[in-house]
Amino acid sequence: MKIRLTQSDYDAIVSHAREKAPNEACGLIGGTIEGDVKTIRKVFFLTNLDASPEHFSLDPREQFAVIKELRQNGWELLGNWHSHPATPSRPSEEDKRLAFDPNMSYLILSLQDLEPVLHSFRIPRDKNATREELEII
Ligand SMILES: [Zn+2]
Repeated sequence: MKIRLTQSDYDAIVSHAREKAPNEACGLIGGTIEGDVKTIRKVFFLTNLDASPEHFSLDPREQFAVIKELRQNGWELLGNWHSHPATPSRPSEEDKRLAFDPNMSYLILSLQDLEPVLHSFRIPRDKNATREELEII
């Protein structure tokens, strides 16, 4: 499985995450799945209810509105994204614990270095997270 993100959506994630730093920023990603390629059609920016540099919780009301918009467009929920303002782009123990769906893509943007790093992960039930190919188009 491979996941595609446009350069402009990538830029929007980075600038939103920088704005929210030192707290984690978070959101959802929706789009289409064709064969083994997921295409992100829209990135949603949600409130981090935890307002914390090390944790995030998505707002259930905002999530509900996203799901509604996805349905209206015939898109699927592809996964979520969040930032790591001061740590690398890999799932924390908590990220793994909270990952509930092996089909979801978990995008993590690290801002710890000057150059941001974004990776996409799959987290199966055994919690052995693996990176999936992320293509910025
Ligand atoms: Zn995390």
